[in-house]
Amino acid sequence: MTWSWKICRIAGIPIYIHWTFLILIAWLVVSHWSATHDVARTVEGVGFVLSIFGCVVLHELGHALAARRYGVPTADITLLPIGGVARLQRIPEHPGQELVVALAGPAVNVAIVAGLLLAGVRPSVDPSENDFLVHARFLPKLLVVNAFLVAFNLLPAFPMDGGRVLRALLAMRLEYGQATRIAASIGQLMAIFFGFLGLSGNPMLLLIALFVWIGAEGEARQVQERLALGNIPVREAMLTDFRTLSPGDTLGHAADLLLAGTQQVFPVIIDGRHAGVLTRDALLTGLSQHGREGRVAEAPLRELGRVAAGAPLVPALARLREGGEPCLQVVEQDEPIGLLTLENIGEYLMVRTALGRPSSGIHPSA
Ligand SMILES: [Zn+2]
Repeated sequence: MTWSWKICRIAGIPIYIHWTFLILIAWLVVSHWSATHDVARTVEGVGFVLSIFGCVVLHELGHALAARRYGVPTADITLLPIGGVARLQRIPEHPGQELVVALAGPAVNVAIVAGLLLAGVRPSVDPSENDFLVHARFLPKLLVVNAFLVAFNLLPAFPMDGGRVLRALLAMRLEYGQATRIAASIGQLMAIFFGFLGLSGNPMLLLIALFVWIGAEGEARQVQERLALGNIPVREAMLTDFRTLSPGDTLGHAADLLLAGTQQVFPVIIDGRHAGVLTRDALLTGLSQHGREGRVAEAPLRELGRVAAGAPLVPALARLREGGEPCLQVVEQDEPIGLLTLENIGEYLMVRTALGRPSSGIHPSA
């Protein structure tokens, strides 16, 4: 991710901080300093910001761990001033699952608020008072900010969680693309509303309006692209010019093929059909155990999965990326006609992008 720094890794998920988060910190430091001119109070203020930061990380982990329950991995978490983004590798298929994943983040902040209330902390601050963040005490502030995070994240607008909740609810009744368009339009109406509020004297609201506008547009575009890519068949991105091996070939011959070209996986043909696949790792293992004179059949071959030439590309891509299959045999009327690899799909998408067609939709973020 651009303009972000990696700060740590929690539960196997890398955590990044976006530079705009630093603006928030700087703004809080300046407002503390100008209000108190006191180093200790300013340090406490920064400590408070770090604790909000911790709450936001927990919020995002709520999304990420809920998604993990549905078998959806999270590529990374990035912290932004208005919350954070857990970049799920795909959006859960079922609207009900997306609903749970979207709600899991705010639920963490609800839990923090509940925990503070149970511990006897009371929101003895008036959030409408100017500079309450500077003057109020630590735990009451933490409570109010977490309550604010719940309310703010549940605004029914992308990129906030509320936008996803709205889309999931709509998608239970409507087709997914249409649900997204409606949710995005509602988000942009809210952005206009925030913009007007912001013009009457609150620059922070203007920033939020801009963020919501861009987020809504981006979500609508991504989903549209993903739906468009969904109609592209496997046939268009498959490899047709590739080398194959037979079980009796020597591993030395396979190693020569590996070195001579860019191909890294080799279908192994038995009786005229593609029966297995020799990956580069398997070839190296075979070479170390049996040497150049060893046979392809002696290497740890993987099973070769099949996909129909007319099948949509997106699920096949997910299968390669998440299922860990090294490649897929593309078949038409049961006859092998090509090979599908991640590298080739990557090149296909690059060519498509160069020709000005959208391709980024296969990396949905959430
Ligand atoms: Zn969230």
